[in-house]
Amino acid sequence: MKAVQVRKAYDLVTAEMKKPILSKDDDVLVKVKLVGICGSDMHIYHGTNPLATLPRVIGHEVTGQVEEVGPNVRSLKAGDHVVIEPISYCGTCYACRKGRPNVCAKLSVFGVHEDGGMREYIVLPERQLHVVSKDLPWEEAVMAEPYTIGAQAVWRGRVEKGDTVLIQGAGPIGICVLKMAKLAGAAVMMTDLNSERLAFAKENGADAVVNAQTEHVAERVREWTGNEGANVVIDAVCLPATFELSIEAVSPAGHVVVLGFDERAAQISQLPITKKEVTITGSRLQTNQFPKVVELLNKGKIAHNGLVTHSFSVDDVHHAFQLIEEHPDQVRKAVITFDELIGIRRCKQ
Ligand code: MN
Repeated sequence: MKAVQVRKAYDLVTAEMKKPILSKDDDVLVKVKLVGICGSDMHIYHGTNPLATLPRVIGHEVTGQVEEVGPNVRSLKAGDHVVIEPISYCGTCYACRKGRPNVCAKLSVFGVHEDGGMREYIVLPERQLHVVSKDLPWEEAVMAEPYTIGAQAVWRGRVEKGDTVLIQGAGPIGICVLKMAKLAGAAVMMTDLNSERLAFAKENGADAVVNAQTEHVAERVREWTGNEGANVVIDAVCLPATFELSIEAVSPAGHVVVLGFDERAAQISQLPITKKEVTITGSRLQTNQFPKVVELLNKGKIAHNGLVTHSFSVDDVHHAFQLIEEHPDQVRKAVITFDELIGIRRCKQ
């Protein structure tokens, strides 16, 4: 079978690999249909993901169809449409015992620490698969994992109905956070440097948008919130400067949610944190968000609405990476298809 592998930095190949087989009683064999390309896949490709080891089959945004199940599998059967929960964990460490297996001491992320889903077939334990409706188009299902990232950030920020939420960055993750914050009943302001991305954020429910290149973000937040500050700031830009801005823009008793992997230090003093009693919280991957997101997808309460802009056959995977590298402004989410019968708007180059 075909598998997309990063061998070393900037060395992406479509390798021929052996089709996996069931080895444990709770294993499930899945025929992969669509795999989204994530910013973190690009980081692995660039050799700049500090968590990934190479060579690696990338891909953690995966939807497919069950082909075979082990004897102990109860919740799934052949033919079911599924999405992949890309984390495996020990279940016994402190984080796992606290219900936070996404930060397990022995965490292994599918497509990062272990081979992922950008291949024709995968075998995973039943607990990493969630059934979606057969009526759900594959291009909607493939967005499940990115939505869980948004759902996690909204949960970590304790976003509630009526809250004002500032989301920095209107890329795919920012848009996923936006959709989940709107479903939670918040008023949302989004920032970006790109006016097209901001227009797309408006189409997807943003109540206010700010171009951080030409406008003063903290001032706009003060105007928008009657000088209170944003109750929750979620930083999907993830630079030292946007972290600093988060602390400035957040309201008293507010939450700041950090999603970044940047190792550079930000300059943040204690005073605003104490004075406003700010809660600063990390948000990594997701905990228990898949059932919620799958229900929203199945009920049609969440849809990509133009977020998936491109699809490429697995044989054209290099074109996909090239397009994302050279024209990042044209691509919101690109997906790789392992099934020629799936019709998605074709790549326009
Ligand atoms: Mn992702």
